[in-house]
Amino acid sequence: MDPQNVFCPNPECPARGQLGQGNIGIHSQKEQRYRCHVCGKTFASRTGTAFYRLRTAEETVTRVVTLLAHGCPVQAIVVAFGLDERTVQAWQARSGAQCRRVQTHLVEQPRDLGQVQADELWAKLQGLKVWMAMALQVSTRLWLGGVISARRDRELIGALVQKIRACALPRPLLVCVDGLATYVKAVRQVFRDPVPRDHQTGRRRLRPWRGIYIAQVIKQYAKQHVVGIKRRIVQGRRAAVQRLIDRSQGEGGINTAYIERLNATFRARLHRLVRRGRGLARQVPTLEHGMYLIGAVYNFCTFHQSLRVRCLGRPDRVGHRWHERTPAMAAGLADHRWSVHELLAYQVPPARWTPPKRRGRQSKATQALVTHWCT
Ligand SMILES: [Zn+2]
Repeated sequence: MDPQNVFCPNPECPARGQLGQGNIGIHSQKEQRYRCHVCGKTFASRTGTAFYRLRTAEETVTRVVTLLAHGCPVQAIVVAFGLDERTVQAWQARSGAQCRRVQTHLVEQPRDLGQVQADELWAKLQGLKVWMAMALQVSTRLWLGGVISARRDRELIGALVQKIRACALPRPLLVCVDGLATYVKAVRQVFRDPVPRDHQTGRRRLRPWRGIYIAQVIKQYAKQHVVGIKRRIVQGRRAAVQRLIDRSQGEGGINTAYIERLNATFRARLHRLVRRGRGLARQVPTLEHGMYLIGAVYNFCTFHQSLRVRCLGRPDRVGHRWHERTPAMAAGLADHRWSVHELLAYQVPPARWTPPKRRGRQSKATQALVTHWCT
């Protein structure tokens, strides 16, 4: 147990989420509990991880979750490990929720995206049909997130574009999509900021972000085969679009190849995590957990061949020709490939404490807490 690398998870505590402040001590080695000297509460070392309150060994859970994340059918795991199906489903749900926390905390942060590709996949999952819309940053191959729905409608696309915006800094951004007109509307609607109001009346005006480019790849089908591809720029100048493409993928033209490749991975893996004969409403949470699990393992735990870089003059890599990287490493979110155990045990710190709102002036004691913990 190492109190230096632990923060207080208590939402009421002024020291919540802060590392290395010396406020954590060991409460019990045997029970693996820490104590926070600021709020006086004790907490388990596995609070906020996928292992919290599980009795099974972490190693077994990790192994099962690794299999799930790579599309191993639940039934196979049940037989191989002698587990109850409900146990496996529960671990999948837990780890999915954990991966969602990690994804939101680390990936859904504003960054200079350059080029993003978005696409929807239509999956037939054991008798039910779903649409899953996902987005990827091209230069790092980072999966930015996905949305699941029964219909491929404005809501689905709107929710996905909101996710892209959550990951974007206001810098030049190229969004490459398929021929679905909904994207164009959604991108134009979502990438806007309110104009500072100069008078009190009237509706608040919204100003579109500058440097948002939209390109479409429209595939023409005949008898389910692609017979032609049309590429067009819906918004922005050609030279600027090409600059963003060159910057993010090195070469090539307008395409959606990277996201299509990722979609295929997801489709193959997600397919087996769904139970036969269940309605969509009951399956959506399962699907979401599965999607986050697959996505986070892809982002943090999987080397991507196209992301490797030559090791030239790196003293720590003597004897290696290539330095392999995961999408998270390429995006600067990690300095090594995470193991699935690291992903499941990662503790997402809560946001900094803010004092509860009260009428009147703050007491001296509260002021002292604010100066110590909030500045
Ligand atoms: Zn505390």
